[in-house]
Amino acid sequence: MNTFEYFPAKTVKEACDLLSQYGEEAKILGGGQSLVTLMKQNLVSPSYLIDIKNISELNYIRYDDEDGLRIGALTTHRSLETSEIVRKKYAMLAEMERTLASVPVRNWGTVGGNLAHADPASDVAPTLMAFGAEVTLTGSDGERVVSLDDFFIDYFETALRSDELLTEIHVPKPGRGGGFYYKFAQRATDLAVVSVATYLTLKADHRDMCKDIRIVMGSVGPTPLRSKRGEDLFKGQTINDTLIEEAARLSAEDAQPTTDINGSEDYKREIIRVLVKRTIKEAAARASMT
Ligand SMILES: Cc1cc2nc3c(=O)[nH]c(=O)nc-3n(C[C@H](O)[C@H](O)[C@H](O)COP(=O)(O)OP(=O)(O)OC[C@H]3O[C@@H](n4cnc5c(N)ncnc54)[C@H](O)[C@@H]3O)c2cc1C
Repeated sequence: MNTFEYFPAKTVKEACDLLSQYGEEAKILGGGQSLVTLMKQNLVSPSYLIDIKNISELNYIRYDDEDGLRIGALTTHRSLETSEIVRKKYAMLAEMERTLASVPVRNWGTVGGNLAHADPASDVAPTLMAFGAEVTLTGSDGERVVSLDDFFIDYFETALRSDELLTEIHVPKPGRGGGFYYKFAQRATDLAVVSVATYLTLKADHRDMCKDIRIVMGSVGPTPLRSKRGEDLFKGQTINDTLIEEAARLSAEDAQPTTDINGSEDYKREIIRVLVKRTIKEAAARASMT
């Protein structure tokens, strides 16, 4: 590992000032679960390491019936998984966290770090996207709010500028909906080969009709992908098996998988088709109980 200068920041302002000063040569250190590995392998060699783990103002989970859920960037996966309010109001999020790596990794890894790292196989990203979440990015000049739909740019690349921190994740109020996340992995602690998160709401006056739906696919493209065609087909329609089958077929077409050690492109498209069907059925069943 190359040598670097280490700064333990105590406030967001201090971290932002350091980022402004050192720019591209600096890296933020959250839980270190991905960054330290990359540094050990000399794949990333920052000259300056800005440790934000002890910035207490970034470690919180707050819920309000009108505003929804606000998650500080330093919230660990384990905190999200075990939060009572998250389990009650955003069950899909807590369930997703249980599928992520192992408890030691979940104790250290942060939600903000996971999103900023932008691994296309992230479990967190598709799940939060299915909820329509947005992130707050903070720099020395102020804050901006970016929808997760626009946050991921490419493999391991995001809309974060070199002088910005990801400070907060906002998840809208859940409404009368249901969601389900399905991760397909070789072993329980592995990254997803393919994953799907679906969140849907039902019409208030026609409880068998879909009002809105988000189908987000993970690990089958450079970023998490929404199946816009699957979603458009579903919105405003009465939910039935034929419709689910067709939405799943369109989602499999919308996916952009590549052949690798985990399977061929065709194999992954087939898994997408199956997982989209399962997640829509489960999400609809959950929505009908709200
Ligand atoms: C063995 C193992 C298995 C894993 N399995 C999974 C899995 O199955 N699914 C999954 O989704 N993840 C998995 N992960 C990733 C892990 O869960 C963490 O979410 C991830 O490592 C990033 O969180 P972190 O806080 O450790 O970030 P770090 O490693 O500290 O940082 C990661 C990157 O994000 C940047 N960064 C961190 N925080 C911020 C911030 N607030 N603002 C701006 N930039 C920031 C850093 O500069 C760095 O580039 C695994 C990790 C390990 C080690």
